[in-house]
Amino acid sequence: MKKRVFSGARPTGRQHIGNYLGAVRNYVAIQDEYDCVYCVVDIHALTTLESTESLREDIYEMVLDWLAAGMDPQKSIIFVQSHVPEVMELHTLFSMVTPLSWLLRVPTFKEKVKMQPDNVNYGLVGYPVLMTADIALYKGEVVPVGEDQLPHLELAREIVRRFNTLFGVVFPEPQAKLTNFPAVLGLDGVQKMSKSYNNHIEISAPPQEISKRVMTAVTDPARKYRSDPGHPDICNVFRLHNFFSPARVEEIASECRSARIGCVECKTILAESINLNLKPFRERRASLASKPGYVNQVLADGADRAEAIAKDTIREVKEKMKLLQRADLGRPR
Ligand code: SF4
Repeated sequence: MKKRVFSGARPTGRQHIGNYLGAVRNYVAIQDEYDCVYCVVDIHALTTLESTESLREDIYEMVLDWLAAGMDPQKSIIFVQSHVPEVMELHTLFSMVTPLSWLLRVPTFKEKVKMQPDNVNYGLVGYPVLMTADIALYKGEVVPVGEDQLPHLELAREIVRRFNTLFGVVFPEPQAKLTNFPAVLGLDGVQKMSKSYNNHIEISAPPQEISKRVMTAVTDPARKYRSDPGHPDICNVFRLHNFFSPARVEEIASECRSARIGCVECKTILAESINLNLKPFRERRASLASKPGYVNQVLADGADRAEAIAKDTIREVKEKMKLLQRADLGRPR
């Protein structure tokens, strides 16, 4: 029996290189080793969204990118969180066993309060409870996380443990699969790559657009003139070469340090490497996009498969909690 992996991602639309290197590549890589459940967490997104205008399109574009990158609906369950409403039910039940003090001490809650002081909604506080419900509903045993997310997973483990102690064991305590998520900086070379900073490169962008974006990348700030020796170790363009031009990094580092290559030329090489790497992805994306209804079909099938697991879990939870169920009334629907 393969262990079950659960992972959720907010619907952020077309994926950028940071998403691809940090998460999507890994989602694809572990599909054979684990029984994977991948969820677009649209309800989580509501805690911070100012508008839901682009939500549907964002889900479609993100899932299209996922599929084109190699996430395989034959191997993995790919679905949208709100399509399986049992998660909201489990969230409510978990909220009864989660002390408020546990939630108020979560560092990301404190950060969000600072970021959106006029919208400190109830969902923000309960975010970790919903996250725990996401994992536990599908009896997720393994959760791929970066080091910074470990405290969240620890909280999920505490909630699950408390439920199991109070009512009897239903859920496995999810284990972290520490993934070496590379911290991909944006084109500004300072902040994490993110659409909100407009420092990103979309993986589905046309080659010309990718080249144009790469040419705006900040390089070694100490290298003012073409004749100055560069410092590849502090240059973000060089970091991206590590991912996209691994066979050439030593040569580029040496030429940079001896000023035999200029930054414009170096970026041109990077743009070519990125475009070459993404060519098969772009072709698959175009092919999948030309199949009417394909993404919707994948999500509908995924929701059916996820729902079957979710219903079994909720039934088990209610039995353990001794809740009177409709089936107990002798008139099951
Ligand atoms: S030559 Fe390349 S690695 Fe060196 S500073 Fe310029 S962009 Fe960075």
